[in-house]
Amino acid sequence: MTRLVVVGSINMDLVTVATRFPAPGETLLGERFLSMHGGKGGNQAVAAARLGAEVHMVGAVGDDAFAQPLGETLAMEGIGCEYLARIPDCSSGTASITVSGGENQIIVVPGANARLTPTHIANASDLIAAADAVLVQMEIPLETVEATLHTAHRQGVPVILNPAPAQTLPVKWLQLARYITPNQHELALLLDADPSADFHELMRRAPCPVVLTRGAEGAWFRDDGEPQHEPGFAVEAVDSTGAGDTFNAALAVFLQEGLATAVRKACAAAALSVTKLGARGGMPRLAEVDALLA
Ligand code: ADP
Repeated sequence: MTRLVVVGSINMDLVTVATRFPAPGETLLGERFLSMHGGKGGNQAVAAARLGAEVHMVGAVGDDAFAQPLGETLAMEGIGCEYLARIPDCSSGTASITVSGGENQIIVVPGANARLTPTHIANASDLIAAADAVLVQMEIPLETVEATLHTAHRQGVPVILNPAPAQTLPVKWLQLARYITPNQHELALLLDADPSADFHELMRRAPCPVVLTRGAEGAWFRDDGEPQHEPGFAVEAVDSTGAGDTFNAALAVFLQEGLATAVRKACAAAALSVTKLGARGGMPRLAEVDALLA
């Protein structure tokens, strides 16, 4: 069983569906409200656990009403939460989302996610040392991402860095990652390049191996030679939210089987995830991925 540590964000997504967006100062009656557990870190941990890995989460929640349910949901998926910090006098991460006529407006308050520090990573150093792989994204402070890369690298544990949301990073950090997993926009920003540049060329320019995701087209990967393509699986897409998170989780879970196999399984798992609503709603179990690949 793959032992995986996920370092990242945990959010409560608060979704209001309305016929239109309110004007400043206006109060409007909405049509529907739903809350969903999210955050790239939490989502990737859930996807990896469903694929059969032993998963431990390093993250933070606040001391509000969302803290307990956010942690409990992860624990119910079988995720180890010993290193889930509870930050006093702080809100849990939230995303307040208003949806109207196919468009949305989103306000993210990082809350406790912004208080996950290099000290939390140092405290989890033994956990990281015992892992087969570490998965980290960029919804936490960049100094904490850096601490994760250094801690894992020092201990010879491969890190998959999912550079989302898109930001620039020092090249020397990228060199500490075993793989980075951007989409084209994120890779261009990481390399400070023109986003419309040929993505094969961008992949060749990256200072570390890259797995590039391209929606329904699947993924391209490059270790040292030329970029190779793994086509996407044809599915009936319902909601692509969480596809990237599922892809990253599967890549980490199956990395020990070799890059090409891991990318193929990641494409299969991510394709299944888009066939159902919600980020976590469609995240498949191992048997479903095996069935698609059979
Ligand atoms: P992001 O949302 O992070 O940009 P992508 O949209 O590239 O991520 O999706 C990640 C992966 O999910 C893709 O590489 C692909 O394997 C899979 N995927 C996404 N959308 C589809 C789709 N419509 N059909 C099949 N696979 C998909």
